Amino acid sequence: MRQSKLFGKTVREVPKDEVAKNAIFLERGGFVQKTFAGVYEFLPLGFRVLKKIETLIREEMNATGAQELLLPALHPLENYIQTGRAEIDVLFHTELSGGKKLVLGQSHEEIVTPLVQKFVSSYRDLPIAVYQIQTKFRNELRAKSGILRGREFIMKDCYSFHADEKDFERFYELQKKTYMRIFQRAGIGEQTFLTSASGGTFSKYSHEFQTITDAGEDIIHICEACKIAINDEIRHETSVCPGCAGKEFRTAKSIEVGNIFPLKTKFSDAFGFTFQDDQGAKRPVIMGCYGIGLGRLMGTIVEVHHDDKGIIWPESVAPFRVHLVELSTQDSKVKKYAEDFYELLLAKGVEVLYDDRDDKSAGEKFTDSDLIGIQWQCIISEKTLAQDGVEIKRRDTRQREVVALAQFVEKITTS
Ligand code: ATP
Ligand code: MG
Repeated sequence: MRQSKLFGKTVREVPKDEVAKNAIFLERGGFVQKTFAGVYEFLPLGFRVLKKIETLIREEMNATGAQELLLPALHPLENYIQTGRAEIDVLFHTELSGGKKLVLGQSHEEIVTPLVQKFVSSYRDLPIAVYQIQTKFRNELRAKSGILRGREFIMKDCYSFHADEKDFERFYELQKKTYMRIFQRAGIGEQTFLTSASGGTFSKYSHEFQTITDAGEDIIHICEACKIAINDEIRHETSVCPGCAGKEFRTAKSIEVGNIFPLKTKFSDAFGFTFQDDQGAKRPVIMGCYGIGLGRLMGTIVEVHHDDKGIIWPESVAPFRVHLVELSTQDSKVKKYAEDFYELLLAKGVEVLYDDRDDKSAGEKFTDSDLIGIQWQCIISEKTLAQDGVEIKRRDTRQREVVALAQFVEKITTS
């Protein structure tokens, strides 16, 4: 992608109406724009990051055997009356011109339960796990955390259906491991802890995946030895870890990047969703649900990985692999060299953002490159041309070296 043609621009100034670091960097870097509090537009750069995150989550969810589908965002209110959730305060209400009452989907238990019910009658039809990556709407009271807390946001939500507790537990444990792998691959594994939390109305416990950062709205107590944590809301009196008895907790602010929930029979009971077991008896289906907010994950990555100059994307979710910066000024040889190199990288299938802008100084290009935060900054100038190479600068370690073109191509296509 030629930066001269890229839709969206970097800006120097901190946006006046943003306090959250993720929103400040993402807006300054040309990744997102705010429509109004809690609602954001994703520009091409931000959309690329979102798609990387989506692909990563999809790969991991498919590997658990869950099947992807797509459910509607418009829901009949009557389904929520049936489950007793019609009064929850985050629901956006609307209606058809004929008067039929609707809500905008804030989660999908009310839709997916009757859907799966249509296809399940016997224990032979179970287990089933389905998921989607889709927009949710929640009338959140506070929306000051940038893309961490949207009033409209994309969520991966998975729902599983089982004949018994044992089979549910098997899938739940698999999801726990899968979630940790997703957060590791997204570059926040070190900062993210499996956290016991309250189970709301459905069951005693649920599990959250909490990422330590000062931007967090939650407080967790971490046992470094067991690599698990407890949410402050359920901690009660204990100041030692139940896992390794005796070790002190470390307390930290954190963001909930994911949440997995045993739903038990709460929704199957509401819809009368039963199946016939192998003895011919009718039993309610056991359910679980598993959510990750894609925007929240993207914002969390920014909160964890930045410095005063801008974002430092983990390679797995960066909008491009290489940021090629040419400093040709008046020198057409440098320009030609950079153009050829850009074409070569594209031909090798490398994703490149190419700063080919003629109206920007070297200083401005470097500042923008640090703000955008692609790991491999690759600079072509008169100086590097004289050495018949490119200058490679790592965004994270800030290490620089001049290497031969072929050597860089080799490195980038094999690592
Ligand atoms: P919170 O406690 O932060 O309000 P929640 O417990 O209501 O979140 P869930 O219903 O468990 O959230 O949603 C599953 C996941 O969806 C969360 O773990 C989070 O990653 C994401 N998520 C929830 N609410 C939002 C939001 N308003 N904006 C962006 N992502 C969200
Ligand atoms: Mg939650």
